[in-house]
Amino acid sequence: MGQGFQIGTLDLRAYCDGLLKTSITYAIGIDQNDAEAMVGGSEAGSIFIPVNNFLFERDDATIMIDAGAGKIMQPTLGRLPQELASEGIAPGDVTHILLTHIHSDHTNGLLNDEGGALYPHAQILIHPDEYDFWMAPNVGGESEKILRQRHRAQLNLTPYRDQMRFVKEGEEILGCTPLLSPGHTPGHTCWRIDAGREAFLAWGDLVHFSAIQIERPDVAVTYDLDPDLARRSRLRFLDMVANERMAVAGAHVAAPGLGYVTRKGTGYSFEPA
Ligand SMILES: [Zn+2]
Repeated sequence: MGQGFQIGTLDLRAYCDGLLKTSITYAIGIDQNDAEAMVGGSEAGSIFIPVNNFLFERDDATIMIDAGAGKIMQPTLGRLPQELASEGIAPGDVTHILLTHIHSDHTNGLLNDEGGALYPHAQILIHPDEYDFWMAPNVGGESEKILRQRHRAQLNLTPYRDQMRFVKEGEEILGCTPLLSPGHTPGHTCWRIDAGREAFLAWGDLVHFSAIQIERPDVAVTYDLDPDLARRSRLRFLDMVANERMAVAGAHVAAPGLGYVTRKGTGYSFEPA
């Protein structure tokens, strides 16, 4: 089952697709002992972070944010379709999927077991900077990591080629506004969702280790394709959500990933909603 939140005029549902096993040794720019202390200890660096997805209805649309990791990444992931089903939501009911970016843990879940489109009626909304980077042919000289991720991105998005909708920075669609936040990936996008007098920001992978990177936004992760740019984007959006007291919905923030950011010293802290 998901968890419900009221944000302004909006009923927002949060679903955990499962837990992703990762390592705090992937944190960049922090002493490993400090990182251990901030996450409350780990087993040889291993920690689990949630993969959160969000869904709301507006007018006649059913809008989902990212699509989960699917069943092929790790056995602890891929629960999103069951979570939706437990609330009577079938994949065919989803009309729009807002993508923050095209990494596996956000788009493997777009596919059914046969590798086709699990969401037959959903328009996929994405910033062209993100789509173009991952769908481009390899030109040679790409790292192993890029080659692997690009291959997966193309498998995940190709079945949707007739369902794509490319969005412009700041353009509003059904009260959802894409805000480019590059660094983690070239076209990583935060989505601002208006909800009457309030709003929330679905910030995707602006933060991976919520116990570390909200308090220490200077810390990047090896998942970031451009760690310095990712750092600047993180600082910019943390500043914005703290100033505006806007709710945030984080893909990897401690489940269910919803809360508010306040200033704390030179960094920030997170209050669950
Ligand atoms: Zn992610």
